[in-house]
Amino acid sequence: RSKELGRNKFRFYNSQMSEQNRQEMLLEERLHHALTNRTLEVYYQPKVDLASGTLTGLEALLRWHDEVLGTVSPARVIPLAERLGLIEAVGAQVLDKVCAQLAAWSHLDRVPVAVNLSVLQLHSDRFLAELDRCLAQHGIPPQLIELEITESCLMPERADAMLALLEAIRARGIQLSIDDFGTGYSSLAYLRKLPLNTLKLDRSFVQHLPHSAEDVEISLAVLGLARGLGLQVIAEGVETPEQANFLAQHQCGQGQGYLYSPALPAHKAAEWLTGQAWLGGQ
Ligand code: C2E
Ligand code: MG
Ligand code: MG
Ligand code: MG
Repeated sequence: RSKELGRNKFRFYNSQMSEQNRQEMLLEERLHHALTNRTLEVYYQPKVDLASGTLTGLEALLRWHDEVLGTVSPARVIPLAERLGLIEAVGAQVLDKVCAQLAAWSHLDRVPVAVNLSVLQLHSDRFLAELDRCLAQHGIPPQLIELEITESCLMPERADAMLALLEAIRARGIQLSIDDFGTGYSSLAYLRKLPLNTLKLDRSFVQHLPHSAEDVEISLAVLGLARGLGLQVIAEGVETPEQANFLAQHQCGQGQGYLYSPALPAHKAAEWLTGQAWLGGQ
């Protein structure tokens, strides 16, 4: 009898598991399909100078519109790819598409394009060689590429190796930003040693500016820290003129967010590189 109960219990878990497994297997199969057919897309979100509103750069953001699954957000794709050991392939495809796009835009105004990296990409021995190969293949000057890493990339176990890698990246003329700054746990002592160009003030601190007294203090502290360390600041998720004005008044150089533009497909982003975006906005 107990054996039978045990077996039923097993079956129950088993059917739950297999439903989850089926989901996961379908996602995996579709992601393989997307990688093979190179159907992952890259959209571009403008970054602007807050004082003048002019374009300073673009951020490349992964978009996946699958014919079976529909749209799958990066918040879902990236962790999935990391779990399945496919993040290097996803990252390589994003970087390749960005470099190909930059080459296609070579006759337009040139601004750097920022690419987001997963910590697992940075832990791969092949990363730097792949990056060099990709830039060379498309003839892209390293100054046109910026890499965004999060504080989770900076965990102390591999601090020395990570520092060496980041220095090698910077030595090529590639820019480095810390994304979602203020939400991680990296120590200021470590941060100070890193060859960074930019801190990206996380959207969670920008969202309630200028009304939240706490967020005002946090933002001013980050701006002061950046100034002291000689780093630029970009505010993420700027959605209102009040936020933009507050940030500009407090010497935050750049912003990005829906106030200016969401991430756009390449042909739409190109309008920002030719000045046409301004005409469209009037
Ligand atoms: P992130 O790098 O911090 O990118 C900013 C996210 O905020 C993007 O979401 C962007 O669409 C969204 N956003 C921009 N402006 C606003 C705004 O004004 N309001 C609001 N509510 N949201 C705004 P997205 O594209 O869904 O990407 C989410 C995260 O996924 C990214 O956060 C990044 O961590 C990761 N990600 C995206 N593409 C890639 C990629 O190619 N590789 C890797 N490793 N990660 C990526
Ligand atoms: Mg980013
Ligand atoms: Mg961010
Ligand atoms: Mg973010």
